[in-house]
Amino acid sequence: MRLSNQRHSPQRLVAWLMAVAIFVTPLTTFGQTPIKPPGNRYKPQDDVQAGRQAAAQVEQQMPILRDGDVTDYVQRIGQRLASAIPSQFQHPEFRYSFKVVNARDINAFALPGGPMYVNRGMIEAARSEGEMAGVMAHEISHVALRHGTAQATKAGSPKAQLPSIIGAIGGAILGGTLGNVAAQAGQLGSMAYITKYSREYETQADILGAQIMARAGYDPRDLANMFRTIERESGGGRGGPEWLSTHPNPGNRYERINQEAALLRVDRAPIQETAQFSRIQSRLRGMGRAPSMQEIAQNGQRNPQNSGPDRVPQGRVEYPSTRYRTYTGGDIFRVNVPDNWRELGGSEGSVTFAPEGAYGQVQGQTVFTHGVMVGVAQAASSNLQQATDGYINALTQGNPNLRPQGSYRRGEIAGRNALAIVLNNTNEATRRPEVVTVYTTMLRNGGLFYMIAFAPQAEQGAYQKTFQEILRTIQLNG
Ligand SMILES: [Zn+2]
Repeated sequence: MRLSNQRHSPQRLVAWLMAVAIFVTPLTTFGQTPIKPPGNRYKPQDDVQAGRQAAAQVEQQMPILRDGDVTDYVQRIGQRLASAIPSQFQHPEFRYSFKVVNARDINAFALPGGPMYVNRGMIEAARSEGEMAGVMAHEISHVALRHGTAQATKAGSPKAQLPSIIGAIGGAILGGTLGNVAAQAGQLGSMAYITKYSREYETQADILGAQIMARAGYDPRDLANMFRTIERESGGGRGGPEWLSTHPNPGNRYERINQEAALLRVDRAPIQETAQFSRIQSRLRGMGRAPSMQEIAQNGQRNPQNSGPDRVPQGRVEYPSTRYRTYTGGDIFRVNVPDNWRELGGSEGSVTFAPEGAYGQVQGQTVFTHGVMVGVAQAASSNLQQATDGYINALTQGNPNLRPQGSYRRGEIAGRNALAIVLNNTNEATRRPEVVTVYTTMLRNGGLFYMIAFAPQAEQGAYQKTFQEILRTIQLNG
């Protein structure tokens, strides 16, 4: 065979280019930027588990909008985008789901493995369906590229501490929006390192987001446009730029997305504004004012209309009901609490239950007078006493008036060895003495499960029975 003597005529070159063009065009992906997901030591199934637990927290803490029309519409857009994820980034374990949060702040977030939440404020702010889809495509990209667990990998979290990571992922996403109620109530966030996505991950989510947009039939430039809309609306006094604080601009974001858009081909005329979108928007606008995330964090989601300025706990508190309801904390624990106690926002894997009138805001901090806080903390040791020492230390450092009284008592929680210690405190709101009892036990995955019971010293006797009953009903599964 002779290869060296071929003629390179212009005609042949053109024919060859055309053949390449014909071959390449139907893929619609010619020239797009390749994306390499970051290193990840977790299994996709871990993402699913982390996301599911964080989703349980989210839905305890945030008011989910129950409106069939709105939800169906957002789900339809979401599913269209999810099915446009390039095959190399699809994980069969993942389940993309889409819910609307009844909050006015411009925000949206997606949890590992697929649960996504879009605030009402975000839908109302978008100027077109394409813009709303843009934010969703960006969020879907973080999930598909497994950025939550990749960040945990980068932070060097031991695998054994997945529950803490779950708390951190949930806490990270909720932290900015829910105002860290748990930390204010005395629990120090132990896993504060995941606070926002890195710039590198942001760029990846922008690029993949643009690619997903094009594949789903949207104009990828609407993703860039939505960033402008968010910036503009956030500056306009409609609440802080929540979304931008967890999704920092990696620099030239608008230009970079438009650059990528130029490499992408969209079949037909891209979807931008639709009649359905305008209909859903006016439906939302007709619903009256949505609460802000701050109001939700202060008041708990069960009674969002009860929002208002800072309130000091009234001190007049209804006696705990003898009827109990069961609360499930992700896959980790279940507990029965009096049915007249509300659960109040906590992040970082904890929840607080308190009766009406037993909590309020003092100088921007949530202060409780009666109730219990239940959760899982990262343990410094696998030894219960050492782990508890570490936890109590952290607790007292954040609360100068909180002083241990006496030593540990031994007991059981859910049939496991447990410790209890009584601490004295001066309530930050009422200035009255109060008794705080901390109960701890180890989880099999290395986390420290705790329950903190608190009541004014004068009422301690009356609350003892309730605290014991709550403690007795705890079931652990981890
Ligand atoms: Zn992002």
